[in-house]
Amino acid sequence: MAKDKEVKVSQCLKEDRSSRTWTWEWNREKRNEQEQQQHLELERILADCKTENKEDTWRWRTRRSEEISVALLRDEISKNSLDERDTPWKHWNKWVPPKVKLFIWRAIKRGIVVKVELARRGIQLEDRLCARCKSEEESVDHLLINCLKTRAVWWSIMIWLKLPILENITSSEEIFDKIEAYSGSKEWKKLIKAIAMTTLWQIWKSRNDVEFNRKEGMVTNLVDEVKELSFLWIKERSKLKTLVWERWKDFNIRDVTK
Ligand SMILES: [Zn+2]
Repeated sequence: MAKDKEVKVSQCLKEDRSSRTWTWEWNREKRNEQEQQQHLELERILADCKTENKEDTWRWRTRRSEEISVALLRDEISKNSLDERDTPWKHWNKWVPPKVKLFIWRAIKRGIVVKVELARRGIQLEDRLCARCKSEEESVDHLLINCLKTRAVWWSIMIWLKLPILENITSSEEIFDKIEAYSGSKEWKKLIKAIAMTTLWQIWKSRNDVEFNRKEGMVTNLVDEVKELSFLWIKERSKLKTLVWERWKDFNIRDVTK
């Protein structure tokens, strides 16, 4: 969308000692929420970058002093595959689409662009307040777990699932640990986790509706959307082909899972 397709990133940046501002020249207005989001994401990525008056080269993150080479990559890969911190997250779930998985991953890493994260990266905002409750700062955990509006969503979801209300939870990751600790078959837990992922995804979607389209949805609508979407996704992606909507909407499905 840049007017000048050859423009350099450094040419879009005005920087002095205390501040940096971006002057993007687009050839048209941003059309939708997705483009808006991509723009924020671009500024988020660039917030941590320094520009220098040098020719560009490729560097590996942990070995900045060396120019990239196959030997260096091979070295880094063999080092990293032995790294314990890279053990995969144990709650991964193929019953939700890849875009949702990516979102959950970023939510857990606090990598979604809520206001507190934007401000932390030096992006100017009118305020950092959560647009839904307007009383607290919008952090990842506030948005997905602690906001009063969000609590109402989780409350309804747990009632639908016939599970105890979530208490003493402060981050989205804890929800998955909590589900893991419930008694039930592996398949049933996988199902509940897929629904929790769908819930987090819909909370994010409805947040963006408020933020970008000034469209405030009702909690009951959001909960209904979670029920419908999770039904479609799980029916399509799992082997639970006997699921039927009539029973799903009351979550009367214990006998369907192993
Ligand atoms: Zn809030």
